[in-house]
Parts: sequence; C-alpha cells; structure tokens
Amino acid sequence: MPTINNKFISTKCPLLLFSGGLDSTHCLLSLLNTTDVDVLIIKSKLIHHRKNKAEEKARSNILKILKRTYKNKQCEYKVRNIYTVNDNSETMLNHDGWLQPSIWLNTAINIVNPAIHSEVIIGYVGGDSILTKLHTLKKWWKAMYQIHRHNCSFIKLKFPIKLCSKESILKTFYDCNNEEILNHVWSCEEPVILSRKIVPCGKCTPCITDKAMKFKYNLLNKE
Ligand SMILES: [Zn+2]
Repeated sequence: MPTINNKFISTKCPLLLFSGGLDSTHCLLSLLNTTDVDVLIIKSKLIHHRKNKAEEKARSNILKILKRTYKNKQCEYKVRNIYTVNDNSETMLNHDGWLQPSIWLNTAINIVNPAIHSEVIIGYVGGDSILTKLHTLKKWWKAMYQIHRHNCSFIKLKFPIKLCSKESILKTFYDCNNEEILNHVWSCEEPVILSRKIVPCGKCTPCITDKAMKFKYNLLNKE
C-alpha cells in the first residue's frame, strides 16, 4: 500500500497584501499565530518616492524581526513567500478619486494561486465613521465585481479588520509585546528629510490619523 510522505503535502496559506503600515502588519502578526503566510508587496509608481523608500525599509525591518523570531522558535509560523510587484500604472485617480482597490486586487489576482493559497487578506481599516467605512468598502466590492466579470477564477477575499478601530489595533501591539515591530511600521504619505533622515511629515492624513489614534489609545488605556 502506498504511503504518503508528509513532506510532500503542501498546506495552503493565506496571501496578505503587505504595505508595512500598521494595519497590514497587524494582520500579518495575527495570521502568524495560526498559519504560515505569503505576503504580496506592491510598489506603486504613484506613491511619493520617499514614501516608497520608507515603506520598503519598514517592510524589510519587520520581515527581518519575524524571520529572527521564527528562527529562535519564538513563533511557530513563518512568512513563507514574498512576492514583490511593481505597479507601473500612470493613471493617478479615477473619477471617484480612488483607484487603489482595483490596482491592488488586479495584482493580487495575478499572483494568487488557488493551489497554494487559501484566501487573499486585505488589512483595510475604514475611516472613523461607519459611513466612511461602508463607502470605501463599496469601492472594494465594486473593484472585486469588475474583476469577477473579466476573470473566471475565484478567490476568497477577506477584510478581517474592516470595522476595527485604529486604537484597538494599536492596543494589540502593546498587548502582544510587539513594540519592536511597532517602531518600524510606516504610514506617512509625504515624508520629509530631517537631519538626512526620512521622517513623517506630521501633516498628511495618515499622520493626523496616527496622532488621533495615539490620543484615543492613551485616553482609553490610561491607568
Ligand atoms: Zn505625513
């Protein structure tokens, strides 16, 4: 009777869109509690080159820490594959002002392999109000619908933190002793140079969201 060698049974794992920001890093850490993860990195020409540089550094530092914790057996699961894709689209924005969902989803569809991936995870958090969240989610689903019309392939698409608050996500980093990783996450859209270093501008929407998140976190969690 033939025997099955476990070595040759590949288990499926999720494919995560990973930017190096707080939300996708949070998703990565949560997933690694229960499974190996493949990450998809999309480098967009549309993004400010300093932001690209800062995000690249953030991702590389975060992935290095995770590799170390896996090597030291502090974590059972690992980042299995890293797919990096250059998005060269020239179009800045569509008429509703947000083309990112379709770019990201199209890239994910090209990379995802149903034989080795269980689902595509997007660490998207909506705005502060439920209406903003629903409005933006609608754009994701619209992009998904358009992709389905042109592709027969089916992928499970998950937004596990779509209705989470930013401060609750920040809390998980402290609760799980992931401050070292937290120090590397990057969100600023328009970084500036200060003493030859790329630093957050403190003025763009993500920087303001960041400040509000820390303020709310401190309010909710002070002794
Ligand atoms: Zn900024």
